[in-house]
Amino acid sequence: MSLRVETFVAGPLANNIYLLVDEAAGEAVVVDPSIDSGTARARVRQLQSRGVRLMAIWNTHGHFDHVYDNALWKSEFGAPLWMHRDDLFWVERLREQSLWMGLTAPQTALPDRWIEAGSVMRVGQYAARVLHTPGHSPGSVSFVCDSENVCVSGDVLFHGSVGRTDLPGCSPEKLRQSLRQLVALPAATRILPGHGEATTIEHEMATNPFCLDLSGDALDDASDGFAPVFDEADSQNAQENN
Ligand SMILES: [Zn+2]
Ligand SMILES: [Zn+2]
Repeated sequence: MSLRVETFVAGPLANNIYLLVDEAAGEAVVVDPSIDSGTARARVRQLQSRGVRLMAIWNTHGHFDHVYDNALWKSEFGAPLWMHRDDLFWVERLREQSLWMGLTAPQTALPDRWIEAGSVMRVGQYAARVLHTPGHSPGSVSFVCDSENVCVSGDVLFHGSVGRTDLPGCSPEKLRQSLRQLVALPAATRILPGHGEATTIEHEMATNPFCLDLSGDALDDASDGFAPVFDEADSQNAQENN
């Protein structure tokens, strides 16, 4: 048996919602309940009927598209919500983030537990350690399950790209440092990003310009990732880029 990863692409920004399932132990965790997460919730109900419980909701970071349905998941499944405290300010602005993007503001769910660098999260018999990987947002984290060679990277590292660094709380230099943490993982590590297709460290090291030049300034131009903007005037541009 191994840890099963189920991927649901949801919402206007094509977010990846991940269910991490240890069926034998009867435990599952959801990562980033995005907008329009109904299909993933229906899947959890189906798993429940087979004796699998949703144990926790993990957020990779606080941008609206990753936390939008947190409240629905908390109230339906009664699972605690975990995130890094440095992104609390984003969650507290969920209403504004949503309205700026032309979406109805959802109910805001506040975190129940804090994730920190080095925290070890559990899904049944599997452990996932937390890397604090700021840059795209101050409280971005990546979940690394060493035994399964899997890393859920949020909007830090994508197939062929990285998260944008032109929003409040962003830092191109911190993103570079975070990428250095990720590329230090074993080459075969499967990367499960917040948007787009899965990849591996090996593939990104060979092809991703942001990984190829981690000492250079390539990230200073990074503005084509997935995230909301504060500035009304930028929203047209952001929608094109999201
Ligand atoms: Zn995103
Ligand atoms: Zn983001």
